[in-house]
Amino acid sequence: VVPQPTVTLDDRFARELSEMAVPWQADEAPDPRLLVLNVPLAAELGLDSKSLRTTQGSRLLTGTFLPPGATPVAQAYSGHQFGGFSPRLGDGRALLLGEIADPAGGIHDLHLKGSGRTPFARGGDGLAAVGPMLREYLISEAMHALGIPTTRALAVVATGRQVRRETLLPGAVLARVAGSHLRVGSFQFAQTTGDVGLIRRLADHALARHYPDAAHSEHPYLALFEAVMAAQAALVAQWMLVGFVHGVMNTDNMTISGETIDYGPCAFMDEFNPAAVYSSIDESGRYAYANQPVVAEWNLARLAEALLPLIHDDQEKAVALATDALGGFRRLYGDAWTTGMKAKLGLAGNPDDSLQSLIDDLLALLQADRVDYTSFFRSLAAAARGDTDPVRIQCDDAVGVDAWLHRWRALGPDATALDRVNPAYIPRNHLVEEALAAATDGDLMPFERLLEAVTSPYDERPGMERYAAAAPEDFGAYRTFCGT
Ligand code: AMP
Ligand code: MG
Ligand code: MG
Repeated sequence: VVPQPTVTLDDRFARELSEMAVPWQADEAPDPRLLVLNVPLAAELGLDSKSLRTTQGSRLLTGTFLPPGATPVAQAYSGHQFGGFSPRLGDGRALLLGEIADPAGGIHDLHLKGSGRTPFARGGDGLAAVGPMLREYLISEAMHALGIPTTRALAVVATGRQVRRETLLPGAVLARVAGSHLRVGSFQFAQTTGDVGLIRRLADHALARHYPDAAHSEHPYLALFEAVMAAQAALVAQWMLVGFVHGVMNTDNMTISGETIDYGPCAFMDEFNPAAVYSSIDESGRYAYANQPVVAEWNLARLAEALLPLIHDDQEKAVALATDALGGFRRLYGDAWTTGMKAKLGLAGNPDDSLQSLIDDLLALLQADRVDYTSFFRSLAAAARGDTDPVRIQCDDAVGVDAWLHRWRALGPDATALDRVNPAYIPRNHLVEEALAAATDGDLMPFERLLEAVTSPYDERPGMERYAAAAPEDFGAYRTFCGT
């Protein structure tokens, strides 16, 4: 007999922050079918995969079978969307089922996306389609395998309900796991209420959950801000180093934990282009690749504003303290990026000052020759061993690349270290689209194969060459979408 799925869900967020939590229920799924289950993640959480594969398991993963004591809620948050403030966003198609304690004592949100309309749905239908939920699964698990902090994907369950987009599509629910779903926009929501007690309760909740050391510092709320800033600076540096364009860095899509969240319009860039932007609605390029650090800094300024009443009783002093703290962002980001770029060049031990022009010249060369960013760095290991052809064939400027390789090799790059830092496999746009199209038509094989490639990104395997290859010429310009 297969056991019933069991999970103990706490409702600490709902209890401590009831003003920001609307108790709500998931829609019934007429014919739930498990499409993909993250067995390693289930094990990390102490969940039994076998029972999650049952019908009752699918009902748990769509929120229609609740463990005793669970209090699912839609979370309220505000947010600056493309620079304009929306006071009332919140989970329009999502629910926080509750918090799980893993066997090691770590606390995680179990959250659903696509589970039906909530009071925050505004004009939306509350639903999600199979393709976009599998897309989030694939890309978030790739990010995790790349060592980048992120929400995780536990499962995608097809609901058996049709979802109307440009055409009718099969509907799905994504079960998502996160350190928490606290966002910069959560603090902005508390700020809009004008209730300083609520802002303090939210800050205390965030400190306890993510930054317990900061909670014990002399100025805990300033320390909270600085801890979030450090986490986000490190996160965005990792995005930049791997060529990731988030696509919708609204303040409601920036977490307090420093995890990547909201895989709607994101994409990995193919050829290196600082202006890369994929989202169909980002006409001005606000969230283009090269803008991501400055946008993160702008979003952190909004977090600082929400925290001002906690930082000092005298608001002028609070502003001075917060401004001073935010002034540290550029150094944090710059140090994280430079350290990471040195590692990508196999030069982790070298002093910075000798490398700045080497790095600048490389990026100029990659941009001018429109070189595939991931393939280029992956081919450096061979070059460090003496076989420079895989690098040279990617560049039109033969003289330029030879001169650069000469300077770089003179510094003694570490070939073994290079292959542990530069991935062979990322979720390339053309492969993602191919896998999702097949999955929408009922064939999950291409999805599973791609998932297998990107979840062991550094370990190049024979027979998987097409997963490491650049997009074909005829793939064309790539477009991504929000809210699908
Ligand atoms: P996003 O652009 O994904 O960050 O979403 C912004 C806001 O729109 C959030 O409040 C979402 O919950 C909401 N939203 C996005 N898609 C839908 C949908 N299909 N139905 C209801 N709300 C949605
Ligand atoms: Mg969002
Ligand atoms: Mg979204």
